[in-house]
Amino acid sequence: MNYNIIDVFKDILKGNLEFVSKQEANSRFEICKKCEVRNPKLNICTICGCFLPAKTKLKKSTCPMNQW
Ligand code: SF4
Repeated sequence: MNYNIIDVFKDILKGNLEFVSKQEANSRFEICKKCEVRNPKLNICTICGCFLPAKTKLKKSTCPMNQW
């Protein structure tokens, strides 16, 4: 199951929220920017509904299309 917003809140409460490096986050975001399922106005992934500037920074986050 994909890491979702509920999991994020659970990790925040447990103090377990982990992030990737800035370089890794930028690399993920560059892939998302070229992806056909990204909503460019809202900057969300239309498959998982996640806000991409946040999603791409989270260590446990995964791309639903296995692009990163
Ligand atoms: S998370 Fe994956 S499927 Fe969603 S916009 Fe980014 S590259 Fe596309």
